[in-house]
Amino acid sequence: MLNVGIVGLPNVGKSTLFTALTKKQVDCANFPFCTIEPNVGVVEVPDERIAVLSEMSHTQKRVPAAIEFVDIAGLVKGAHKGEGLGNKFLANIRECDMIVHVVREFVNNDIVHVDGSVDPARDVEVIELELAMADLGMVEKMHDTVTSKMKAGKAPDLAAQASAITKWKDALTAGKMANTVEFTDEERDAVRGVQLLTNKPILYIVNVNEETATKGTWVSPLGAGRLAIPISVQIEAELAGMPPEDAKMMLGELGMKESGLDTVIRKCYELLNLITYLTTGEKETRAWTIHRGMKAPQAAGVIHTDFEKNFIRAEVISYDDFVKFGGESGARDNGKLRVEGKEYVMQDGDVCNFRIGG
Ligand code: GDP
Repeated sequence: MLNVGIVGLPNVGKSTLFTALTKKQVDCANFPFCTIEPNVGVVEVPDERIAVLSEMSHTQKRVPAAIEFVDIAGLVKGAHKGEGLGNKFLANIRECDMIVHVVREFVNNDIVHVDGSVDPARDVEVIELELAMADLGMVEKMHDTVTSKMKAGKAPDLAAQASAITKWKDALTAGKMANTVEFTDEERDAVRGVQLLTNKPILYIVNVNEETATKGTWVSPLGAGRLAIPISVQIEAELAGMPPEDAKMMLGELGMKESGLDTVIRKCYELLNLITYLTTGEKETRAWTIHRGMKAPQAAGVIHTDFEKNFIRAEVISYDDFVKFGGESGARDNGKLRVEGKEYVMQDGDVCNFRIGG
């Protein structure tokens, strides 16, 4: 399952955000590998198509797509040197698919800022530098290993790996993120499996004052190079604690189209280049997460690994056609049910039936 690590300085609103997110916790019984731990929340990806399809199919059970959020507490200045929870913390985010970086813009004198004043641009740099330094520690070790192997003449094919690692080392030493490095194709292939923190996609959540969140116009203090969204964690915490009807009313009163949490979840999905296909029937209507560009057999394999191996064909109706023609038989009668083979590239919103052999 897709896994997002939440980082940020202390007292910026991470835990409050995390707690609000976990109010959208899915039923773990529907997801393999869904762990129940205090700092892990498996959260529903909002998608109104599931409700529509399940109404049409008279479905008993609805299963949305899900994302796992991990609240990674303990990142402070000096973490890479072992301050705070230090390296233990850093090991925790090494495995994440992406990072949500929470930064504080709201002003409230009752809530202490660790550096004495509110300055989002400075704060993101503190965290980014910690992440870069943690990466540097790892890259230096890799550099030593590859250099000694090459010296010993044991591995003549390590040139691309060595030059990639050297590029990373130079960038990180200069305090830059690993994702600013430009590689040749050979270099990129040579280090493909390496998990660096500063090479992961990052979504910045700027925790703004309540008035700012509802104003509609906002200029990010973090510069154009960082994908940032303004959210009032305070408002989100209130919304998440309400019954859905009340939350809807409050959103209306605030002039907001959707909750900030829904925006966050959706953005994570986009940033990771993920799309959804759907299955629907009387038993279950379900959203399945796949990478954009995936072909039909691999997509079927997400349901069950055997489905990829034994894939015969996919019967596909686009969501819009499915709705327009009142379901599968209507879509079929109007020539909108497509029979697709192994080379078919899945599209977001495909409503699928897979034919499986074996
Ligand atoms: P963390 O250390 O980053 O996990 O921060 P917390 O979520 O524990 O928040 C620290 C304090 O700031 C708590 O007292 C929160 O209630 C408060 N807080 C969090 N978000 C907001 C916000 O958007 N506005 C205001 N005014 N206070 C907030």
